[in-house]
Amino acid sequence: MKRGVWRAAAATAFICGSYTAGTTLFMRLTGAGIVRRAAAGTGIILTFDDGPNPLYTPKLLDLLGEYGVKAIFFVVGRHAEQHPELLRRMQREGHLIGIHHYHHRSAWRLTPRQTKREIRRTAAVIERITGNKPHFYRPPYGKLNAAVPFVSDPFITVIWTHILGDWKVRTCDRDLLGRMMAVPADGSVVVLHDDGSNKGADDAAPGHMLPVLRQYLGHCREHGIELLHPGSLVNDSRGVRI
Ligand SMILES: [Zn+2]
Repeated sequence: MKRGVWRAAAATAFICGSYTAGTTLFMRLTGAGIVRRAAAGTGIILTFDDGPNPLYTPKLLDLLGEYGVKAIFFVVGRHAEQHPELLRRMQREGHLIGIHHYHHRSAWRLTPRQTKREIRRTAAVIERITGNKPHFYRPPYGKLNAAVPFVSDPFITVIWTHILGDWKVRTCDRDLLGRMMAVPADGSVVVLHDDGSNKGADDAAPGHMLPVLRQYLGHCREHGIELLHPGSLVNDSRGVRI
């Protein structure tokens, strides 16, 4: 959907009485201004939030490299600043890097000015480290406020079709593989996490996600399930060059 339409939708949601939950619900229900599925409508895109993490991200990059899979890493600006070498490695190995706020703060708790700052500051960190401007933005927890369509310009907001609960050790051990295998290869966008330090997550969870991901990648290879390059999120008509 065109950005102008998105802004009109955000303004409507705001006027209708909600800066936070109402806007998020409205945007998610209508899909206004949000990308959450590959434009091609086939395959699966993997995305990883909250890193980079010095323990888990290198292992994840090794694994993705082994299977020749490219992903988007939605990095927390503060973490990126602490581990610039990991961003450089992501870029070198052909992955895309997106914005996930500087402090992993929910947009529901941010004023428009603070929202803009979280986005811009992270974009500047990514550009400073990699030499490239990011194209994609994912708000923490997928929570939007009515200012996002205005202050996120020119970045494309990406949510997901499948969020699988991998921030908990117990979920990784019991349910994650089944949940991953149930994701349809119809342009689905899956979110996983390569850092467990945020509130509500288990620190050790990525260490339990990784062996499950290995099994899943083997399953995909065996069954010919295509894991798409994340540039497939957008098509040429959006004028984005990845
Ligand atoms: Zn997050």
